[in-house]
Amino acid sequence: MSYLALIAVAAGLVLAACFIMKKRRRARLLATPLSAARRRILQARMPLYAKLPPDLRDTLDGLVNRFLDEVKFFGYEGVEITDDIRVTIAAQACILLVNKKNRWFASLKTIHVYPTTFRSRLKSVAGHVHTSRRQSRLGESWAKGPVVLAWDHAAYGAFAPHDGQNVVMHEFAHQLDEQTGVSDGAPLLDDDQSAGGWARAFRSAYGRLRRDVETGAGNVLDAYGATNPAEFFAVATETFFERPNDLRAQEPELYRELSQYYRLDPAAWG
Ligand SMILES: [Zn+2]
Repeated sequence: MSYLALIAVAAGLVLAACFIMKKRRRARLLATPLSAARRRILQARMPLYAKLPPDLRDTLDGLVNRFLDEVKFFGYEGVEITDDIRVTIAAQACILLVNKKNRWFASLKTIHVYPTTFRSRLKSVAGHVHTSRRQSRLGESWAKGPVVLAWDHAAYGAFAPHDGQNVVMHEFAHQLDEQTGVSDGAPLLDDDQSAGGWARAFRSAYGRLRRDVETGAGNVLDAYGATNPAEFFAVATETFFERPNDLRAQEPELYRELSQYYRLDPAAWG
């Protein structure tokens, strides 16, 4: 065997060893309960954590461990990143994946946290920003890039679980939507979910929301969801987790599709 071939084999072995170690580390994190200190943070900050069925809560613990291991947080304008901030944001993001096997925010590497609403420093790349609430931004999700959040709104979203507003779930719904390469309210579906059924339910509910916004009629979904299909999916996700009974009553087909997509039935959580 030539010298170069030996180097190639050695490099291949090192890469394989790294891959196996990474996989083992991830499996260990997913199987580990949250520390008592981190669990106390969620018990204090996120009432939904206590309402989760125990098996889902155990899964969420593992996902939060993995999230905190793999995603880096950066603070701006005086924000010092603490475990409080990291755990509260990670748990709200990971609840979207708590029953979706083999799904992850694969392109997410960093989260940028401002103390409150912010003017984006990242808007130089057009077409990749989703503003959550118009000019003063509560959050942004970038395609193949970071999530940016206002900490006060992220904390309030965790603490007020029934108002249908949750900026972390909103931005991470965008992250899921963007996994197809196009942010259009049509995320990657599992094989057992019909794209046609999804499209029909979403088109129909989206049309009703747009009409209700125009006429001033009430709708369980926030008016911001009428902006475009991507925002509709993000707003529908917030409502699915925070007002599941109202959504199921007013938009049963939409609820059913979201329930199949997230493989969850939050209306049954009490
Ligand atoms: Zn949005």
